[in-house]
Amino acid sequence: MPEITLLTRDGAHLEFACAQDENILDAAAAAGLFLPSMCREGSCGLCHAYVAEGAYEMGSFSKDALSDADQAGVLLCRCEPRSDLTVQLPYPQADIQRHEIISREAVIENLAPAGAGAMAVTLRYTPHESFGQAADFVPGQYMELAIPGTNIRRAYSMANLPNWDGRFEFLIRLQKNGAFSTYLAEQAKIGDMLITRGPLGQFVLDDASMRPRCLIGGGCGFAPVLSMLRHLADFQDTQPTHLIFGANREEELFAAGDIDSLRSALPQLGVTLAVWRPEAAWTGFTGTAADAFVQYLETSTQTPDVYVCGPPRLLEAVLAVAHERNIPPERIIAERVL
Ligand SMILES: Cc1cc2nc3c(=O)[nH]c(=O)nc-3n(C[C@H](O)[C@H](O)[C@H](O)COP(=O)(O)OP(=O)(O)OC[C@H]3O[C@@H](n4cnc5c(N)ncnc54)[C@H](O)[C@@H]3O)c2cc1C
Repeated sequence: MPEITLLTRDGAHLEFACAQDENILDAAAAAGLFLPSMCREGSCGLCHAYVAEGAYEMGSFSKDALSDADQAGVLLCRCEPRSDLTVQLPYPQADIQRHEIISREAVIENLAPAGAGAMAVTLRYTPHESFGQAADFVPGQYMELAIPGTNIRRAYSMANLPNWDGRFEFLIRLQKNGAFSTYLAEQAKIGDMLITRGPLGQFVLDDASMRPRCLIGGGCGFAPVLSMLRHLADFQDTQPTHLIFGANREEELFAAGDIDSLRSALPQLGVTLAVWRPEAAWTGFTGTAADAFVQYLETSTQTPDVYVCGPPRLLEAVLAVAHERNIPPERIIAERVL
């Protein structure tokens, strides 16, 4: 049976066997290595990696699952070995879970519009005798939610704080003809039961760092950033922090009330609301979140820790700016949401 060697970004070597008719993601899970992944059907792109050595075959997958920068890569959910393989993973060992991720039932407690084309969704865990009731996660993490009655799962980042009541708040942008979006827009109702899986993800604050922070959220990528800022407010954090919230149009800048409360709770918080295509009456920053990041760097005296969450184009633009300004890669924590 082919031997697979995974090389993580921080230099770890992890080895396991994988049959020729098995994909690498499943074989890794059988060996107790739960690699970042979601749809398992070649469309979300979360399990992309690079084969450094060896022969393999790829099953069918969506072209959009690999960004322009990742075209040389593979999707591990679709990749079957034809020889021993060495696979380079684009993340550190800490991103690999070593235990099965918890699946639990949760019920929709609230559904409300949240700005143009987005919904605020609140779920609450149904009681479970072994797991208890707490919604235990780190601000910035996400849960996978399955559409009721299907195996279709999508990732959504929590916008709230961990709590004892088992409550999860999400801000979900509705995508035209998207599977989960259509369920939310047309069928979902209070009381629906969903299977959740998580918490997952390493897009979390480095609490030990003393550097200023710049938190950038584009569109629905604002949800985990909001959770992080609520955490900082909860702890009355005093480090200089700047929020950049990027949207295409003013009406997509949801959660304005939350931002006002954060400004009062965190007096050192700077805020740039960046609108790419505003109406004529807009007096705030005009441009993308990456443009606002350039402006922020021009006025900041110290190199910040950068947290960026949003669609691939935003990530690529922000990473390019960070690279030009010599911000070391280890100071950038990024999460791609589409
Ligand atoms: C870690 C992470 C965190 C995330 N957090 C959030 C969050 O907090 N909030 C949020 O709103 N989103 C978040 N997302 C994105 C979310 O997981 C979904 O990708 C998003 O909601 C779209 O899901 P969907 O099922 O509605 O659309 P999908 O069914 O996945 O479709 C997406 C788009 O592709 C199009 N499409 C689908 N199939 C085809 C096809 N065959 N050919 C052409 N086009 C097609 C659809 O029309 C739609 O526009 C996150 C993603 C990740 C990875």
